[in-house]
Amino acid sequence: MEVAEFRAELHAWLDAHHHEVAPDFDPPGTLDQRIAQMQRVKGILYEAGWMRWGWPERVGGLGGSPMLRSELGATMAARNLADPGVYSLVEVLAPTLIDYADPDLAADWVPRLLSGEEMWCQGFSEPGTGSDLATLSCRAVPDGGDPDTADTWIINGQKVWTSLAQYSQRCVLLTRTGTPESRHRGITAFFLDLDTPGITVRPIEMINGEREFTEVFLDDVAVPADRILGGVHGGWSVAMSILPYERSSCFWQRIAYLYPRVQRLVDAVDEHDDRAAEAVGNAFLALHTVRARSRATQHRLAGGATLGADTSIDKVLVASAEQTLYDSIRKCTTGVMELDDTPLGDVARIEYLYSRAATIYGGTAEVQRNIIARRLLELGEEG
Ligand SMILES: Cc1cc2nc3c(=O)[nH]c(=O)nc-3n(C[C@H](O)[C@H](O)[C@H](O)COP(=O)(O)OP(=O)(O)OC[C@H]3O[C@@H](n4cnc5c(N)ncnc54)[C@H](O)[C@@H]3O)c2cc1C
Repeated sequence: MEVAEFRAELHAWLDAHHHEVAPDFDPPGTLDQRIAQMQRVKGILYEAGWMRWGWPERVGGLGGSPMLRSELGATMAARNLADPGVYSLVEVLAPTLIDYADPDLAADWVPRLLSGEEMWCQGFSEPGTGSDLATLSCRAVPDGGDPDTADTWIINGQKVWTSLAQYSQRCVLLTRTGTPESRHRGITAFFLDLDTPGITVRPIEMINGEREFTEVFLDDVAVPADRILGGVHGGWSVAMSILPYERSSCFWQRIAYLYPRVQRLVDAVDEHDDRAAEAVGNAFLALHTVRARSRATQHRLAGGATLGADTSIDKVLVASAEQTLYDSIRKCTTGVMELDDTPLGDVARIEYLYSRAATIYGGTAEVQRNIIARRLLELGEEG
């Protein structure tokens, strides 16, 4: 199916089924409510087929370009049917399973994620490891000592900032299987069931008061060897494979989510107030710029291009557009974020504070600027 045809039919279907898919709570709702809403809507959209377009048939999909599923995610975000930050884990983790898991296991698992039956999380960062992921130390050793014959691996260590682990059934987990000096060559990825004995998940409160991310402790956690993704010591490729999806469809969805917020800002300001007009203009320009960039990135990906360092530009643009927008909202709606105790103030506060994380998650702004400087502009090696 073509993207334009898909979009038109999807909107018509959503209009006709509005009462079934719309949230049954007023924004912002609690994180519990938003997660339940997303899973419920994924189930409805899976049954109706929408959630299956753009995914391969061997994992329960209906085939077609990945741009179809981007379009679905963007539409859900724009209509406030699912929070794009939470929904993005589908887009990030399903391709990992499709590309790196045993095909039979992928065929069994991926439909559970798409249909809302399950949630999965991403266990990469650790207390001592974030931007420089190659230093991670959560350790996996083969039970019996031989990596070639072991049926089971034993994992010990800690992850941190693991988004939504408390809601998830499974986790794509990066572990150290080589020496620390082996850096990215000694990392192995596992697809871990979070109800395995030895796993403790502790939610962490974010600056906006929500408990979206967690610490995950692993004490002698036994994992079957067939849960290794990408082979022993092949975890770095698994981690890097996430980038193209995170930097294409996830950004497209985030942008779709931000546009109605610009409109809300336009509606809220006095058109004769020059200071407000400038703030609105800056926000619109930043968002429009990244939308144009993101559209081109998605077309390149759909055309078979390999995405790499160039997507650091998308990352810098999307994070700065989001922060510019919320800075403008704060400037133009004086006092609402700070003083308003109604749901309007709650939404403004939660969203503004969350926007501060945009320059951290998925690669910090400083690290992205380094990549742009060194790898795209060839301004020299790290000193
Ligand atoms: C909302 C949110 C959700 C997240 N969800 C997940 C998740 O689900 N799973 C997961 O694994 N992780 C997750 N993370 C963690 C995220 O990936 C890390 O925060 C990020 O990679 C940065 O790592 P760090 O926090 O350890 O900071 P560090 O890497 O320690 O960086 C600290 C500061 O130093 C700067 N810096 C670091 N290296 C350089 C350099 N070479 N040059 C210049 N400056 C540098 C950084 O830009 C930053 O300002 C999430 C984070 C947030 C905010």
